[in-house]
Amino acid sequence: MEGCDKPRMISLMLKEGTERDAPVLRAREEINCNPFKALVFTMLSARTRDQSTLGATKRLFRKASTPLEIAEMDLGKLEKILYGVGFYHAKARNLQALCRKLISEHEGKVPSHFEGLTSLPGVGRKTANVMLGQVFEKDAIAVDVHVHRISNRLGWVRTRKPEETEIELMRIIPKKLWKRCNISMVSFGQTLCIPRNPKCAECPIRKCCKRVGLPKMK
Ligand code: SF4
Repeated sequence: MEGCDKPRMISLMLKEGTERDAPVLRAREEINCNPFKALVFTMLSARTRDQSTLGATKRLFRKASTPLEIAEMDLGKLEKILYGVGFYHAKARNLQALCRKLISEHEGKVPSHFEGLTSLPGVGRKTANVMLGQVFEKDAIAVDVHVHRISNRLGWVRTRKPEETEIELMRIIPKKLWKRCNISMVSFGQTLCIPRNPKCAECPIRKCCKRVGLPKMK
């Protein structure tokens, strides 16, 4: 369909997210310039709202802002700071283990390659790809719940798991757009193509959307 090329649709998603003040955009603006802070934020953000994650990340960095300071922090104190983030007990332990590994194997710096990132405790594919695409500006598609849901609703992919979506998107999206996919779709998914009752009547790409899995529009 005319006007339904993917570069245009991805741009429109980001435009909507920006105009509707998506939390992810504000959070990324604050953290992306510091790879360690961005890694901590991204790791903590699993199953947690961006506002809560950003609040916890800021609280933490006011008390401790280097891998060494966080590694040496009392675990109970760290858990208290992270309270409000989903699974904060497990994440506090992982974060300290991650910091120790950064110190022992990476001279306290965040690795900028997939293998190095995914070898860190608590860092999976999604977090590694967010770091690669948005912090290190490498070609990577980070697929989280928003990217997975929207790609399937649009009819771009028919997949059950985020890992399958990542493979399919890499096949159908031009490489130069990969790093923009996550931020565009997450901001769009936080504000317009939300999980329940997406705002299809207001959607600028509804003519290009198959609305897979959604009831017919009245
Ligand atoms: S038309 Fe609805 S389901 Fe499709 S992208 Fe827009 S908001 Fe999402």
